[in-house]
Amino acid sequence: MITPGDRILVAVSGGKDSLAVWDLLIEMGFVADGFYVGLGIGDYSNESEEYVRRFAAERGLNLLAVDLRDDYGYDVPTAAKASKRVPCSACGMSKRHLFDKASIDGGYDVLVTGHNLDDEAAVLFGNVLRWDIDYLARQRPVLEARRGFPKKVKPLIRLSERETAAWCLIRGIDYLVEECPIATGNRHLTYKAALNAIEAESPSAKAAFYLEFLDKMAPLLNGKSAADVGELVECASCRAPTTGEVCAFCRLVDRASGHDPVPVEMVLKHRRQRR
Ligand code: SF4
Repeated sequence: MITPGDRILVAVSGGKDSLAVWDLLIEMGFVADGFYVGLGIGDYSNESEEYVRRFAAERGLNLLAVDLRDDYGYDVPTAAKASKRVPCSACGMSKRHLFDKASIDGGYDVLVTGHNLDDEAAVLFGNVLRWDIDYLARQRPVLEARRGFPKKVKPLIRLSERETAAWCLIRGIDYLVEECPIATGNRHLTYKAALNAIEAESPSAKAAFYLEFLDKMAPLLNGKSAADVGELVECASCRAPTTGEVCAFCRLVDRASGHDPVPVEMVLKHRRQRR
């Protein structure tokens, strides 16, 4: 995944997984900078930033940060309302774009994220339910750099959430325990709960589901993603890879930055009413 001497950028959220992987890399002797994106999700974002900044400051690590509101004129609740996307979709797309941009602009060799086994199995479950070939073809722990994309790796994919939490406990890492308030009731958590129920009846089913996918299925999907089949062109605005003329991130900025700010409480209330 990582070669000695690589310049590493770690995407950090203040949660246990991203701080654990940053700590592990430093402990193993790598030089790694952190990258934080302020999402504007009320108190949750304020607290998560405090955890990240404290972690970096206590260890003398370099932290880069971007704030959606300050730097792009919107936040996740406003983006969801303005674009009529579900909040996690607007959030995930914004983060992916900014992680890629920070890696490429900063000249990093590899972008590291803290996805663990539980995350990856839940994402795989969702991708299989929709037979989303593009996402399935990209769901690998190592994605090599391609034009417009940095190399991306996920070193924690063999560790469960409990194991990364245990690492934080052993290492004295203070992390934000609370989940993002928008996560409550989202599909990702539903898939995690379903897999946990299966795991309770059939121990190690979760690991088998994901790791056997990597072993047996992922090789068959090589070359099947939009990037692999050459469907991507440069965004006319920011030059990031995209399938359309203007990338989804630039279209989101265009819509959301002109919208009146939406407090996260409004998003949560709307979701409660729909349930
Ligand atoms: Fe973003 Fe959704 Fe995760 Fe909250 S739960 S940080 S909105 S992806």
